[in-house]
Formats: sequence, C-alpha cells, structure tokens
Amino acid sequence: MNLYPSIEYASPAEIRVLQEQKLSELLRYLQDNSAFYQRLFSQNGIDIENIRTLEDLQYIPLTSKSDLQQFNHDFFCVPNHKIVDYSTTSGTLGDPVTFGLSDSDLERLAYNEAISFACAGIKEGDLVQMMTTVDKRFMAGLAYFLGLRKMGAGVIRMGPGIPELQWDSILRYKPKWLITVPSFLLKMIEYAENHGIDYKNSSVYGAVCIGESLREQDFSDSALSRKIAEKWNIKLFSTYASTEMSTAFAECELQQGGHQHPELIITEILDENEKPVSQGGTGELVITTLGVEALPLLRFKTGDLVKAHYEPCGCGRTTMRLGPVVGRKQHMIKYRGTTLYPPALNDILNGFDGITVYQIVIRTNDIGTDEIIVKISTEQDCEELLSEVKDRFRAKLRVSPRIEIFPADELTALVYNPKSRKPIHFLDLRL
Ligand SMILES: [Zn+2]
Repeated sequence: MNLYPSIEYASPAEIRVLQEQKLSELLRYLQDNSAFYQRLFSQNGIDIENIRTLEDLQYIPLTSKSDLQQFNHDFFCVPNHKIVDYSTTSGTLGDPVTFGLSDSDLERLAYNEAISFACAGIKEGDLVQMMTTVDKRFMAGLAYFLGLRKMGAGVIRMGPGIPELQWDSILRYKPKWLITVPSFLLKMIEYAENHGIDYKNSSVYGAVCIGESLREQDFSDSALSRKIAEKWNIKLFSTYASTEMSTAFAECELQQGGHQHPELIITEILDENEKPVSQGGTGELVITTLGVEALPLLRFKTGDLVKAHYEPCGCGRTTMRLGPVVGRKQHMIKYRGTTLYPPALNDILNGFDGITVYQIVIRTNDIGTDEIIVKISTEQDCEELLSEVKDRFRAKLRVSPRIEIFPADELTALVYNPKSRKPIHFLDLRL
C-alpha cells in the first residue's frame, strides 16, 4: 500500500474538492441509512442537496455525545449481521456508547493507522511492541494491530502494564518501536534501573504515545516528555484519536502537531456560540467522519478544546495539524476566579521527580463551587516537596489547590485501576 497518500501533500484547493465530494456522498448515505440523521434532516427542514461546501455544514445542527448515548441504535447504518467488531466508549450518562464496525470499517481503520504510523516514521519490516489494551472492547488496540499488519510491520502484543514482562519481550525480540501511555515509560525506566537492565542501549528507537500530552502549545516538550528524555534518549511521538472519530492525528518526525488525514475526516473548530473560531484560535473540535459504513458521524462535538495550525509542514505535508489538547470542555474547572483544565495541572505535577504517582480529584464543596484535591505519593521529605509544589502551582496557574500525601501502594492502586484502559490521573466527582 502507499503509506504516503498524495492528498496529504496536495494544495488546500485540491483537499477541499476531495472533502466536499466525500461530504456529499456521506450526506446521501446518511439520508438513506441513518435513522438518527433522517430525523435530524427532516425536523430541521434540511435538504441535503443544498449542502455543498464545507461552509454549508453550519446549517446542520451539531451532534452531541448525549445524542449518541440516548439514540445509540439509531446511529447504526448497517444491520447487526454486518458488524464484525463491537467497541465501546464511555458515555456522559453512565452507560457506555456502543460502536459497531463493519468489515469495511476495519479496513478503513487499518488504512488510517498505517498512514498515521508511517507519518511518525514506522516503516515496513519494523518490529513494534504494543503496550496497550487489545481487547476489552477497546477500538484503538485493534486499530493499531490492523494498521501495523497492513503496513507490513511486525507486532508483539504485550498489553498494558507489567514492566518485567515488557522488558523480557524487548530483550528477547528487539522491537524498534513501542506503543504506550508515555507515563508508563517512567515505570519501565525505574524497573530497568532497579534490575540492572541496560535500557539505554536497548533496541528501542522510538515510542508512539497515547493518552497523555508530550507537548506544550508551542510544541516544545512537556514536563513529562522532558522527564522521560532525561533518562532515556528515545524519540517520542504523540497521536490523538478517539473511538467516535475512528481516525488518528499523528505527529510526523518534525513533531509540530498531529496531521489530519483529509480523506478520512472533516474538522471544524468552534467557539462557545458554535461559530468557527478565527484562524489560530482555540475552540472545540467538531468532526465529520468520511468513509465510515456502520456508524458515521456528522458534525460530532468531541468535547476537546484544541488549536489548529494551517501552515505547510516541513515534512512536505500540507494538511492541517492539531496542537495538543488544551482540555476537555466538560472537565473545565472554575477555581477561585480562574478557569483551569486538567492537562495544565498534570504538566506541573509531571515536572517533579519526587512525585512517584498522583491523582487530581475535583468535587463540589459545601458552597457549590469546585474544589481541587491533588493526591500525591513521594519518597522524599514531604514538607519540603509540598511547599515546592504549592509554589509551582502559584507561579504557573496563580492558584494553590489542596495537596494530600498518600501511601504509594494505595494511590497506585487508584490510578492504575485494572478496570480502566488508561491511568486515572483525573477524577471528577462534581455533582
Ligand atoms: Zn509534518
């Protein structure tokens, strides 16, 4: 397969022509097959023949996560016997949202991952160790496997956790790449140091990272990224994706944001009034999937606040790049007159070597406002560390949340809960 599709190097005008053609196909497909969108079009008097340009999208109401949850079945465009894989994503109301994937959706997903990995620099013949969940109805793990297979790379499916087994596999099979949550690399380093493993001279060249941010908004390294690099000189690449998007935004070797695949997804970035932000502004990412058969989405609100970058990239690609997620809209914290998002808090905590594990808890206090509790574990002198952490919070965010020290094993069990696919660094207990 061609891992470097020509559309990603095409002019903005050519990209637009392709997207508008695919949008028309999608609208006809939804009109014919989606109970949810048939209803949405008729209730809002939308004639899909009038929606021709990307700008015309604004005449169609947005789709929210609660629509997906409430009317989950109505989003399915194919009968059940066409579904090859069921994946789920957490909903806003408790029950998970179910995604079905048809055979052609799995093929699309494989294509998406193959070109995304190629963007990060993985090549045919490379060996990759997958340190993420492959089962538990998790779409991403399956997508990685399919994508690597499609591009002709080899895969070692280790699943998450257990540094001992991860190292055994690295030393045995010598993978060039890892796919992992970046903070887990710190656990890998710690294990290697404690067990005399010469990790600095291992076969690992790079890691494709999910779930946690490696960059600041100006694409400089985040505290987490610096902390890993100080110990272990491997290349770290960010990817951003979600089950709903069924599409990834992957960094290229220049690491200037995640490249969009214009043949797979249309993006809009909207302000609080659901109008496009001015170029370079931060807003909510709204997506329209292209080429999805079972559960296509039109103008779906991801809840993620991001900034887009439109200048052509040094790698030669002309596609839009997404900066690191500023935060999830629903996780916005109003704290003593300041608006905060968890990634900014994570970044501060990741900057402390003395903090072995942490969790941020938000709850509603007696007077109905948000309260932040930062739970940390440390092997250092607590008093000294506490005052340093408080100072850093004040300096960077102008607020100082309550900090509580916890025994390491107790907090580790809360953060690395086996029932969760990702470490739980943020817990929202607000009413
Ligand atoms: Zn690039």
